[in-house]
Amino acid sequence: MLNAARGLDPFTIINCEPFTSNRTPQPFQIKIDSNTLMFMDVHCHLAKTEVIGYLAGRWDFNEKVLHVTQAFPCRALEGIDTLEREKTVEMDPDSEMAIRNIITDQGLSVLGWYHSHPVFKCEPSIRDILNQQNYQTLFRDSSDNEPFVGFIIAPYENSEKASQVRCFWVSQPRGEARDEATFQHGTPMLVDYELVRANTLPMQMIENVRLLLEYYENFTQRQIMSQTAYKQKNKSTVSKRNKLLSSMRSNMPSSMTAIQIDAILEFVSSSLQEADHLHELVINARRC
Ligand SMILES: [Zn+2]
Repeated sequence: MLNAARGLDPFTIINCEPFTSNRTPQPFQIKIDSNTLMFMDVHCHLAKTEVIGYLAGRWDFNEKVLHVTQAFPCRALEGIDTLEREKTVEMDPDSEMAIRNIITDQGLSVLGWYHSHPVFKCEPSIRDILNQQNYQTLFRDSSDNEPFVGFIIAPYENSEKASQVRCFWVSQPRGEARDEATFQHGTPMLVDYELVRANTLPMQMIENVRLLLEYYENFTQRQIMSQTAYKQKNKSTVSKRNKLLSSMRSNMPSSMTAIQIDAILEFVSSSLQEADHLHELVINARRC
């Protein structure tokens, strides 16, 4: 498929088009749990290079609804140079297979993937569109449904408390138009999703966030969270750490008290500060 798109710059961004209810209706509904969105959003804040993961849950064939209830971070493929990894990401094949097995073992279905755009705007590149098409083809069911979506999160693209999030699906050329000679990438379509607000934040989710922070502590391309994310209108600056915290806060379960939310955010904040501090020590030690 990549060969068929030869001649196109794979990093070219293509803006998603909206579905129209009369001519091109969205093929299914998507409901995503707010804890799942929060978790992948945290992941997307932590690295200067693109990060990637799978989304899992349940496909309701009869109602045509994707229920996304879990996100599974994957290791990104090493060996691509840093500049390129700011603009693209591939899953490490071993990590990818291991995660897919975990998802199946939990009785869930793979329903999508997510990745970050740390430097790009929140729209798919041609490479993203081709990857999405590959996934849709891989997960196509016997009734020709393609219940698989791509989420893109651009955590530092805007000057707002929450990250930019896009959910897309590709309207693929089918039939004869799909042969090698005439194949072009499909049209990325903007998927409208419903955020299902979780009631609680399970202990397992807090532990998953902790493990994520721990993994990225020693990641060579980790974001320095004390750096500026954006400037406010009054010229004061917001650090990447505070950007992450306010994004997390916006996705917290409705039933949690302010004290509970503050306690979790304080834990995340101090972990990030500690990791920045350790990083600084390592850099200074190398200079000596
Ligand atoms: Zn991308």
